[in-house]
Amino acid sequence: MPDELYRMSAVDIARNIRNGKLQLGEIVEYFLNRIRTYNERFGVFISLAESIDMKENAPFPVPYALKDNILALGTKTTCGSRILENYHSPYDATVTMRLKEAGAVLLGKTNMDEFAMGSTTEFSAFFVTRNPWNIEKVPGGSSGGSAVAVATGMVPFALGSDTGGSIRLPASFCGVVGFKPTYGLVSRYGLVAFGSSLDQIGPIAKTVEDCAFVTSIIAGYDPKDSTTSKKRVDFLNGLNDSIKGVRIAYPRNLLEYEALDADVRDAFFESLKMLEQAGCEVKPVEMPLLEKSVAVYYIIAPGEASSNLARYDGMRYGLRVQEEGLDATYHGTREIGFGEEVKRRILMGTFTLSATYYEAYYDKALKVRRLIANELNNVLSENDLIMLPTSPVKPYNIGEVQSPLTYYLMDIYTIPANLAGLPAVSVPVCLSDGLPVGVQFMGKRYSDPLVLRVAHNFEKMRGEFPLPQI
Ligand code: GLN
Repeated sequence: MPDELYRMSAVDIARNIRNGKLQLGEIVEYFLNRIRTYNERFGVFISLAESIDMKENAPFPVPYALKDNILALGTKTTCGSRILENYHSPYDATVTMRLKEAGAVLLGKTNMDEFAMGSTTEFSAFFVTRNPWNIEKVPGGSSGGSAVAVATGMVPFALGSDTGGSIRLPASFCGVVGFKPTYGLVSRYGLVAFGSSLDQIGPIAKTVEDCAFVTSIIAGYDPKDSTTSKKRVDFLNGLNDSIKGVRIAYPRNLLEYEALDADVRDAFFESLKMLEQAGCEVKPVEMPLLEKSVAVYYIIAPGEASSNLARYDGMRYGLRVQEEGLDATYHGTREIGFGEEVKRRILMGTFTLSATYYEAYYDKALKVRRLIANELNNVLSENDLIMLPTSPVKPYNIGEVQSPLTYYLMDIYTIPANLAGLPAVSVPVCLSDGLPVGVQFMGKRYSDPLVLRVAHNFEKMRGEFPLPQI
């Protein structure tokens, strides 16, 4: 078996197993070995699967990892939180079930910011995850464990969840591909809810093709999630077709954002040039409302989170800190069970949803959300795609950013897709000071195949992207 197997794409691994060139048992052992070798150094897996299920003659027999907010029978689902530290998954999430049916083999559950609140994976209650390009740096978040699992070759692909960028940002910081499909195309049944009108599950992998393939397995209508759409989307449709004539807009005003790192900006404009050379029509547009995305998101997401997290009361799930009386037990459990960032969000959300402030904050945020979605949809009615950097900055040092406002602002380029439910993919462009930089393609609702096609073509023009030396 080739020693460099970890470089192989998930699609190629599946093909080699199906035609008998590789054995699934050996492949699983190979990746488990890499996990044993590297897990501790990078802080990736919270737990490993208790049993390994392998299916004969399956279409997609590939090992993978799940972010630890997605349920899988035989695993704990901690959400990176003390409050769920000993919580056993009572059933399989729909995505887990679909991957199982396709023959994918779950190896373990990956580290994340507590309840997916964060952009660095520093807010896990258990340990920090480290960037494989430089272990002093954050890997991005909140699906940092999943991104590092892929970048270090511990698994060929992993799933994450994206409420305001948590798939795309860590993919960008780790030099891999992360895809958030259109809201409603992938079931969230079995995903622990954070911001239900924003949450979406999606893949992280080394290539766009892998992401398209994995999405084609996990997507589709699910009667157990009433927000799923009955629309059928073929994620692999036209993946290799030409992108000549594709109209790509970029919001000029957002590229003047003062916190935008000069190298990230250069990489972005270099990417635009490459796309122009491939025959795309590239043009700047003004999108003033997009600048309000962060403000709107940090009202809506905490509001939804405060409501979703009310269920962790010490009675029904996970941790119970038994005190004298019911109220004291609630307080004790939530005091000890939740970390600082989660408490901050619950406080903000409870405040903006309160009778006195609802109209001033939450209701207003919903209206501006609609205006932002209109602005995006207007630009997308005249253009096929919107292109943005994935993050305004390169990976920074662990512990470097202390103020919540500073890291909230780093979500500026990823949040718009969640507010409007649009598909968006982050693809690595280049290394700058030895750290990966990514760009993002975002399209109309249900135009996922076009978004993936442009990303796939972009990847081909860019040439092979290196994996970190570990
Ligand atoms: N960084 C954003 C937040 O902290 C997004 C997180 C996510 O997408 N789960 O809420």
